[in-house]
Amino acid sequence: MQYNSRVTKAIWDEDSGTWKVKIQQGDKTIEDTCDVLINGSGVLNAWSWPNIPGLHDFKGHLCHSADWRAGYDFAGKRVAVIGNGSSAIQIVPELAKVASKLHNIVPAAASACPDCPLEQLVAPDVPVILHFGLDIKCSDHH
Ligand SMILES: Cc1cc2nc3c(=O)[nH]c(=O)nc-3n(C[C@H](O)[C@H](O)[C@H](O)COP(=O)(O)OP(=O)(O)OC[C@H]3O[C@@H](n4cnc5c(N)ncnc54)[C@H](O)[C@@H]3O)c2cc1C
Repeated sequence: MQYNSRVTKAIWDEDSGTWKVKIQQGDKTIEDTCDVLINGSGVLNAWSWPNIPGLHDFKGHLCHSADWRAGYDFAGKRVAVIGNGSSAIQIVPELAKVASKLHNIVPAAASACPDCPLEQLVAPDVPVILHFGLDIKCSDHH
């Protein structure tokens, strides 16, 4: 196992029947071969902020579900959650237990459960204020 390594190239070499792999470790580039290459690089870890004008002018705590800051205390805070996908379905009910007020901004029906009534889907038992129909362009997951 080697840490701090980024695979920058993996090419199948037909003649030798092996993978030729390039790995970046800081300033150093290693070349290696392997018979079997298991790609565990994930598909959802290259996250990005949605394109919302003024988003980064917000002076409060701004947090993305893919870059969660576990130490932040939401107790008593007024919180807005943008989105109602599978992460929001998990996040909203938990935040609603501690936030003083929770707004959930819902661009469209959740793909995780497209046929569910939105109010029930997001938070069946918690006092959440839903805002429907905001036009948000998300470039990546969430
Ligand atoms: C916000 C969010 C919430 C999610 N919630 C859930 C959930 O509730 N339930 C669920 O089942 N799934 C959820 N997922 C999906 C989640 O991606 C998977 O569950 C799980 O993390 C995937 O594991 P993995 O090991 O395949 O990939 P990852 O956990 O993404 O790990 C891949 C690793 O590979 C590294 N890597 C990437 N490219 C390279 C490279 N070229 N060279 C070297 N290393 C590289 C990355 O830095 C990362 O450390 C969620 C995803 C996101 C973004």
